[in-house]
Amino acid sequence: MARKNTIDWQLAPAPESTDHFKLKEQYELFINGKWQKPKSGKYFDTINPANEQKLARIAEAGEADVDAAVKAARKAYDTVWSRMPAAERGKYIYRIARLLQEKARQFAVVESMDGGKPIRESRDFDIPVAAAHFFYYAGWADKLAYAFPGKSVAPLGVAGQIVPWNFPLLMAAWKIAPALACGNTVVLKPAETTPLTALLLAELIQEAELPDGVVNIVTGAGATGAAIVNHPDINKIAFTGSTAVGKLIQRATAGTGKKLTLELGGKAPNIIFADATIDQAVEGIINGIYFNQGHVCCAGSRLYVEESVHDEVVRKLKHRMKSLVVGDPLDKNTDIGAINSKEQLGTINKYIKLGQQEGADMYQSACDLPGKGFWCRPTLFTNVAQSARITQEEIFGPVLAIQTFRTMEEALQKANNTPYGLSAGVWTDKGSKIFNLTTKLRAGVVWANTFNKFDPTSPFGGYKESGYGREGGVHGLGAYLNLN
Ligand code: NAP
Ligand code: MG
Repeated sequence: MARKNTIDWQLAPAPESTDHFKLKEQYELFINGKWQKPKSGKYFDTINPANEQKLARIAEAGEADVDAAVKAARKAYDTVWSRMPAAERGKYIYRIARLLQEKARQFAVVESMDGGKPIRESRDFDIPVAAAHFFYYAGWADKLAYAFPGKSVAPLGVAGQIVPWNFPLLMAAWKIAPALACGNTVVLKPAETTPLTALLLAELIQEAELPDGVVNIVTGAGATGAAIVNHPDINKIAFTGSTAVGKLIQRATAGTGKKLTLELGGKAPNIIFADATIDQAVEGIINGIYFNQGHVCCAGSRLYVEESVHDEVVRKLKHRMKSLVVGDPLDKNTDIGAINSKEQLGTINKYIKLGQQEGADMYQSACDLPGKGFWCRPTLFTNVAQSARITQEEIFGPVLAIQTFRTMEEALQKANNTPYGLSAGVWTDKGSKIFNLTTKLRAGVVWANTFNKFDPTSPFGGYKESGYGREGGVHGLGAYLNLN
């Protein structure tokens, strides 16, 4: 069927093919280098959120399975991985990186099918950046002493890692690559709705012939994650997910001696000054909030526009929204794919209703939505109050809240006024404004005249309720080492 957006461009279908690989009907748990059936005998389905069809049956790990995974990781740590010369560890990680590049197409297609994100993003962003993390940390494996001059470095032991559904493979790579480079072994749990690329990664790790037990992948839902957090023989928990679960984990690990890093929610401000290149800024705002359906912890979900250019910016944003194509994630023309789950769509719709009840003005592009699956039109709100819940709370969907400001102080005060502090964006022609704001914005990452740029060499993490600890770069190594 020909696709069109609301300004009536006819786009020929450009679907990515799915005939170059075959998913298994059922996936078991990857423990000690082997595929093991869950002791509970329980399974759940993972579906494609774009058509609600089942993709595969997935094993649900209970406490006994998590225990087996931790035991395997401990044994691998004690007997092989922590004793291996660091350069040898690095070779295994390079091998993972290279295999991931070789199989990038399959990983991209599966990521889009399981999670709903457009193939353009999984192909051009998620998978290459995941491979880049393995390459980057492979290089550090035998250079750890240079990363922390004057300190002695030692691995922590077994790391328990829990990741969310918005960047399933990329988050797994962020966690596994530095942990392995530093000499730790891991037990990783992907999210219930997006387990497939982590399981493909387990197959790839088998192919790379990593020693048994160095990486264990256990699938399941929240209870499986909790079993990892509460396991007494884990030395480190790395969690990416919601602030609510992050707080539970912080409580559960307090006083246990487990090291903890938390990457939590966000409500990132984008600030546009009148002197900015407006067209470039508009493109950046669109990318910042509608990229990956707004399922991005650092999504630019609040926009502060200098009053004199407010009408121009809003007019241009609305025009650009009309050209966005919402639909089949596997079509290369698609800008906005499927919302990851029915539950998440419910949350987003609740906030869209709330925004209207709070008195803000809503605009949505009028694009057609497919009949099956979970979809949300790109949405923006103007005339929003700073105290409104759509300004303060994370929506995790393609919903933008717009306000104005008159002075830099007002912009700064509003931008910093949420419980979060993960990222921010500044759009201006003046370097002095950028330097002034970047030092005062309470956010882990501040992008200037760009947004959503990632690189393995650059640390990432939050302030306040966005969590603590840093992943990425040299900082990311520190989270997996004892430094003395
Ligand atoms: P979530 O409910 O916190 O889930 C994250 C992971 O934790 C999933 O694997 C989940 O399993 C697991 N989990 C759930 N309950 C648990 C518990 N009691 N103990 C241990 N693990 C548990 O978050 P989400 O709603 O799926 O993900 C979206 C959130 O992640 C957003 O708030 C977003 O901002 C945040 N996020 C942050 C970053 C960052 O880098 N800061 C990156 C991406 C996402 P199941 O999914 O299987 O239930
Ligand atoms: Mg799925």
